[in-house]
Formats: sequence, C-alpha cells, structure tokens
Amino acid sequence: MTKVSLHCKSIAWLFVRHTPTGRLQSFACSEHLFQFLRTMTTNTTDNQHRGSKKPRAPKETMRHVKSREQRKRGVDVHGPATVYAQVVGAGSRDNGASLYVFSEFNRYLFNCGEGTQRLMQEHKLKAARLDNIFLTRMSWENVGGLSGMILTLKDTGVPEVVLSGPPQLEKYVNAIRVFSGPLEEIKLAVRPYTEKQYADDTMTVSQIPIFGEEDGPKCSPNSGRSSPSSSPQRREGTSWLLKQNTLGYQCKLIVEYKFSFSCSTNLSRLMTFLMHFLHRGTAAIGPLIAALKDGKSVTYEGREIHPEEVCTLTDPGPAFIVVECPSEEFVQPICIDQQLSRYQRGGTEDPAALVVHMSPESVLKTDEYKQWMERFPSTTEHLILNEQVCTVHNVRSHKIQTQLNLIHPEIFPELQHYKTKAALHVPNVRAECLLKFQLRPKIEWQRDAIPSCDTEEFVKEAAEAPNFLQEVEECKRFRATDAAVLSGRAEKYPEVVFLGTGSALPMKIRNVSGNLVNISATQSVLLDCGEGTFGQLCRHYGDSVDETLAKISTVFISHMHADHHTGLLSLLFQRERALATLGKAFSPIYLIAPVQMMTWLNLYHDHCEEILSHVNIVPSKVMCEGAEVSKFKTKAFIQALLITLFQTCPVRHCKNAFACSITHQSGWQLVFSGDTMPCDALTHMGKNATLLIHEATLEDGLEDEAVEKRHSTTSQAIGIGMKMNAEFIMLNHFSQRYAKIPLFSEDFNDRVGISFDHMRVSEILPRLIPPLKALFAEEIGEMEERRGRRELKQMKEAIAESNKEQRTPNEGETGKGAKREPEEPTQDVGSKRLKTN
Ligand SMILES: [Zn+2]
Ligand SMILES: [Zn+2]
Repeated sequence: MTKVSLHCKSIAWLFVRHTPTGRLQSFACSEHLFQFLRTMTTNTTDNQHRGSKKPRAPKETMRHVKSREQRKRGVDVHGPATVYAQVVGAGSRDNGASLYVFSEFNRYLFNCGEGTQRLMQEHKLKAARLDNIFLTRMSWENVGGLSGMILTLKDTGVPEVVLSGPPQLEKYVNAIRVFSGPLEEIKLAVRPYTEKQYADDTMTVSQIPIFGEEDGPKCSPNSGRSSPSSSPQRREGTSWLLKQNTLGYQCKLIVEYKFSFSCSTNLSRLMTFLMHFLHRGTAAIGPLIAALKDGKSVTYEGREIHPEEVCTLTDPGPAFIVVECPSEEFVQPICIDQQLSRYQRGGTEDPAALVVHMSPESVLKTDEYKQWMERFPSTTEHLILNEQVCTVHNVRSHKIQTQLNLIHPEIFPELQHYKTKAALHVPNVRAECLLKFQLRPKIEWQRDAIPSCDTEEFVKEAAEAPNFLQEVEECKRFRATDAAVLSGRAEKYPEVVFLGTGSALPMKIRNVSGNLVNISATQSVLLDCGEGTFGQLCRHYGDSVDETLAKISTVFISHMHADHHTGLLSLLFQRERALATLGKAFSPIYLIAPVQMMTWLNLYHDHCEEILSHVNIVPSKVMCEGAEVSKFKTKAFIQALLITLFQTCPVRHCKNAFACSITHQSGWQLVFSGDTMPCDALTHMGKNATLLIHEATLEDGLEDEAVEKRHSTTSQAIGIGMKMNAEFIMLNHFSQRYAKIPLFSEDFNDRVGISFDHMRVSEILPRLIPPLKALFAEEIGEMEERRGRRELKQMKEAIAESNKEQRTPNEGETGKGAKREPEEPTQDVGSKRLKTN
C-alpha cells in the first residue's frame, strides 16, 4: 500500500466519519456488501420446512441497489440525510437489549437475542434490509435470536448476512447448521473480531475487544445480564473455555470476551469540498473520486490531489458508542480503555454524542463506572438498556389478550408488566421500545415511535365488534353453571398454558411452539420450546416467573425444526438463575428430545457457553413403546413427575419427529402431537386420551399443501382426535397466515377447542367459540373470502380440465368423473359459509 493509503488507514482507526472517506478506508470490505441485494420485508410466509424450503427469488429493490451503485461509482456521494439509533429490545428480562441503527443507505442491528425478530416484525423494522449484525458478546442473551433471524433472511431470499462479533461467532454459525438444514443459499460472512474496523456509506465501526479480569468480583445471579462466573457450573465452563482459547484464539487472559463498538456517522462535507475544489464538477469527478477511493493521487488541471487532503479536510460526524459491561469484572477494563477514553473530555476525538450502555444496574452503580460515565462531557447522552426499564414491547400480544380477557378472565389472564425502578446519579435515559436517538440531521431524542399500550382503547375496540358483548354475556351465564358443575369434581386435566401457538417463525400475535403443562403445585413439563418461550413465560407470569421456572423439571422437544427448540437455552439459563434467586439447589432438567439435539448442545457447549450440566438427556426413541433400553434414567423423572407413563412415538413429519403422551397417577392422559400429518402411531398411543393437543397448521382445502409440508389440516387433526376417541382436542401450531384465529372447519364440535398464546386451560369450555367468532368476525370474513376465491379458481381449473378431457376421444368414465367434480366445491363454499357465520 502506498503511504497515502496507510495514512488513510490510520484515519479510519480514529473513527472517521463520512461517506467517501469511509469507502476509501475499507473499500475491499464494502465490495462484498455491495452485492447485498436488499429485499423488502421480513415477510410472513409459512416455512415450516425451513430447512428444505427453496428460498424465494429476492424481489429486488432496484432503486435501492441503483442508488448504491451510484454511490459506489462516486456519482452520488452525499452522506445519508437521516441517521438514528433506535431501541428494539430495551433490555428487560423478556426482551434483551438490541439496538437498530438506521440510515437510508444502511441498516444495522446490535445484538439479536430471542424475540428480536418478532419485535422487528411487529414494529416494521425490516430485517431483510439489514447490512450488518454486530454482537457485543457471545452469550445466549445476545445471539439467541440469530439462528431464527438467519433462517428468515434465507427464506426471504437475502443472499448474504454479515456478522461481526467475538471469536466464538464462527463456531456458533456452524453449530446452527445442525438444525437449520443447508444454508448454502445464504452467505454467512463472519467478520473476525481482530478486524479492527468496518466502514460503509454510513459509518465506520471499530471493534474494541475488552477482556474481563480473571479474578474480578463475582456477579450476583440477579444482576441481570448473565455472567460467566455467576454459578459454579458456569465457572467450570469458563475455565474450560479458557483452555480452548489458549489453543489458538490468541486470547489467553480472558475470562470472557467483551466487545464494544464505536461508530461515527458520515456527516461529510467531502463532496462540498470536492465540488469547490474541482469547481467544474459533474462528469469529470467520478473517475477522480474512484482513484482517490483507491488511495491514489490524481492530477486535475495541473494540480496533484492526494487522498489525505481529501480525508483530513472532512468533518468528523458524531460518534456513538455501544458498550456492554455484563458484570463487575469488565468495569475496570472498560474504564481504562484508551480507545473509549478518546471520546471523553480531554480526549483526542470530538466527544461521543451518545453512549449506549447494555449493562446491569449492579455495574452502573459501581463508583468506577459512574466516574467513567461522568468523564464524558455533559453533551454526551447516556442510553441505558437493562432490566430496570419500564416499557411494553409486544403491544399486539397485549392487545389481543386484553380483548380475549373480556371473554374469560381465567382462560385468558391479563399479561403482566414488570414494575422496576432505578435511580442513577449520572443523567441518563432509560430505554423504551422504539425510542430513537437521531444523529442526523439534528441530534435529538425522538419519542414519537414509542408504541402506546392503551388497555381502554383495546377494550373499546372489542366492544364495537357487532354482537361481541352479547356473546360475552351469554358466555358468562354458561360459565356460572359450568363452574357449579365443575366445582364438585376433581380437576380433569392438568393446567395447560399455551405459550406459543403459531408455526414457522415468531410473529406479533402468535409465538412459535411452546406449551407448559402444570402437572402439580411443584411439577411442570414443557412441551416444545421455540424461540421466545421464556419471554412468553415472563409476560404470562410476571414477577412469579422464577417460581414457574423452578417447577419445570422436564422438557420435551418434538423435533429439530427451529420453531420447536431454539428457546431452550434461555429457558435453561433463566431456570438456573431462578433456582439461585429462590435459594433452591440446582438440578438439571430431563430433556426428552431427538438425539440430534445433543449434537447442537454439544457444539454450543464446546464453543460458546457451558450448557451440558443443565440437561439430562433422554433420547425420544428410548421412550417409544417396546424400545429395548435401560429404564434407569427414565424411571427417575417419571417418579418425580408423579406420572405413571411417559411415552413417545415417531410421527410423520421430518426425520426424528416424535409425539408424546403423559399418563398421570390420577388417571388423565395428555397427548401432544408435535408436527405431523395424520398418524396412526399417534392414534394408537393416544387411545382414549383425556386431552389431545394436535397441530392444525392449515385450513381445510389445503390438503395438498399439508402433504407437501407434512402437516395436518384442521379436519385431519380433528379426525385423528375422533379416531383416538380423545375426550377433548385442542388445536394449535397454526400457520402464521391465521394470525388471530384459524378458519373453522365444518367438523368443529363441542370436543374441539382452538388455542391462543397465553391461553390457560384446566377445563375446556368450547362455549367460547361464539364470542371468539364475534370478536374476529372481520378476519374470519377475509379468510373465507380468500377460501372462496381459491375454491372458485380450483373449480374453473377443473372445468377447463374436464372440457379438455371431453374433447379427447376414448376418455369414457374419467371424463364424466371430472365433469361432476366442479359442482362439489360450489356447494362446499355455500355450506361452509353458513356454518361459520
Ligand atoms: Zn413447527
Ligand atoms: Zn416442523
């Protein structure tokens, strides 16, 4: 490299600052980014078979790509007009800290914990337009949502994702391939932490590795963000990780890595400068800029222009810092970090406009950290993302629950808000979901995007639905008589709390698979644990979530699709924290899952965080009827649960997919299908079950799609329940196209119920259906219209087909058969309409 470009490099290191300079410094780096074709939305397709689904061809946002081309060619070198940082997850226990940075050229995400994707979908932050994902630390809190995000981006057709973060990141990305299926369609570029900085059209981001002190003070289990030393188990894992690190990651002193990123927006005057300098502008400028970008000097009108002239005259844009200090061990290293101190008073850089602290209160309260915050001038704003925040993230979930609560307050209990308070001497702003800090054009806080959660408004809206209040009144009358009948009897079923009833990917109204079965006052079993299951538990149980976690002794994972298990790790870590908070002894959970689950857990354990001590694996296949294995392990958990039998059976979905059945001492039998097409083995296992929870991904009429995706339609699910002679059938795992309510099929009867997220049932009341239909009349109407159109189309196709066949000689019977066919759907549409209205 020439002297000039070396000089430029050093400028980059000092976090320069604006569009063209940024490109100058990291041109090679932005080359591959440039190919990052942006597609539009995070999308709502059903991709239950995410592993095998072909990605849709990316819809090219040509305008976007074109303008990027132009910027690259130097035709348009204006920096972005708008840049802001926006809170996605405020750092609460149910929604970990994540920050979205927007410019019209680029989008970035800092951290991607579980539920991030769901929040982005709800609040219309388009994940498919992300250029970069930065991770501040390898902990499940920061990466838990990444696998789901990658799968969604892949399904949306995004060709590449660029990830920056700690050294374990590459291994993590490799580990998710265990359950993600092939990821060839999407290029996962992992930028090593040693790569000091990154620059694009919007900003330069420098990675600042910070290493915790090995013998620093311990983090209490309640401190919020998990610490590697929060428990003996974790301690063990950490030392293990240390040994690994000495094997060649060049990180010998580390307890755990900690990264922070420092960013500066490109508020450039370069173009103005160039225009002035070259006063003739236009066509001649392009090639000159291109040469300067490459670090070459150019001659124009007899005058030599050196790239550094261009660089040094540029105006540094405002800088912001994102820093995570997970525990006291990192306080000192952060406080003495030279790179960060340059943005403080007396530093060599203009002071940072904003410091984003992803740090627990226990850290913020240490004198050393407070003093460090105070060393920034008063113009620097401090944004705090931790558990001491008061904000509602999942507004749509609160809305639907508030409305359902009107129908039945016990079955649809109100969701919980966390009440937290905290005070800090250093002036700061507590994060709220969607709170913005604008960096350009004007530096200011913006609160207009923060969603409101107005319960009264939700109630009013529901009351306006025709017939809704009448149906609710009717329902109340039944409830009184039902309660009188039921009060004399022992509970028929365990209490089931539906935590996630949607399929494929977490969406604002339905999260992915998760069902909590409260067997007794002290024992619970979790059936599936999709991403965000812990967050759902938080919102359902509020402050008593620790007690709930402490009761979970067994988790059943039906199969390895991401919508069924990627919430397991946070459940395990949070359960450990809950046990410690409650002063209870730690014990591993019994994990009944396909053996492939262990491949994933082993890889995560080996490269990321200690996890194996949390689980006692019982492979699903050893619980099948007639399996020849040692019953030692299985006996223990069966005894603990006070059940007489826990059984599994293979189902017709993907390789190693299982259903399960739990038979209790008191006589009830609960059967859970997992994902499956209609399955005889399941019917056999669940003969005369008290309660069947069966997937019903698709509506009737979509049988072909159901076969293709190996799922069941509503009627198929009910059919299995009837064949099984189940006393009650609860349907769940609905395609996300039925966000609020699935389409009712003709064979709905008083033994069938539909599940909603946060629905809590111990005795099922099918009488809820009329008020539900009133509440969601509009959605049902729309879905029926869609079905009508689809059936009409099928009918037309069938007519066309039969006409063709009629014209073909010697067709005989086939032709006649095909001719009769079209009449049936017509009747069908009519009768179905009548039934559902
Ligand atoms: Zn599924
Ligand atoms: Zn599946």
